[in-house]
Amino acid sequence: MGSSSEQQSNENYDFSFKILLIGDSGVGKSSLLISFISAYSAHSAPTIGVDFKIHLLTVGGKRLKLTIWDTAGQERFRTLTSSYYRGAHGIILVYDVTQRETFTNLSDVWAKEVELYSTNQDCVKILVGNKVDLESKRAVSKEEGIELAKELGCMFIECSAKTRQNVQQCFEDLALKIMEVPSLLED
Ligand code: GDP
Ligand code: MG
Repeated sequence: MGSSSEQQSNENYDFSFKILLIGDSGVGKSSLLISFISAYSAHSAPTIGVDFKIHLLTVGGKRLKLTIWDTAGQERFRTLTSSYYRGAHGIILVYDVTQRETFTNLSDVWAKEVELYSTNQDCVKILVGNKVDLESKRAVSKEEGIELAKELGCMFIECSAKTRQNVQQCFEDLALKIMEVPSLLED
């Protein structure tokens, strides 16, 4: 990698990262993914199974290939296996700022699962409070989000998959941070 060789047309990137989206069903994981790679769709259809999308993006002068994994409707069945987590460089932990339980479940359920299955000790995490467009229905303050992020050792951002506020920022912040961790750049 890194050479400007024309032969690399199929692999035209500097780094390839595996990114996971986790969090309760309905928090907007699939919407965030769609919002990031194209446009928000109000009719997101949760399919059963694990799904992933590949997105190329340039940040910090580097061309990145992001393979973004989405749990696609399996959340409540708790059937995610270690293969989902294996080799992940970055994890996006999503809650819905209007649903308090999705926030408490991040520490009670999801962070524990990350601890258990994550194979990269240095894996970068970002806590994401989604649906900030629904400000009048807010049930979790930004300060609480910041506090939990500190506890879990994550970065933090609030965003809206609907308005696309901070969506690009979320993925870029995560990618930039991953590039600061030498052990995550070896393959
Ligand atoms: P997932 O189960 O975590 O993948 O959640 P989905 O992406 O399927 O979203 C669940 C519901 O929340 C859908 O009805 C979405 O349209 C809605 N939704 C997702 N993100 C947002 C957002 O930022 N704002 C608002 N108002 N609704 C959202
Ligand atoms: Mg989904």
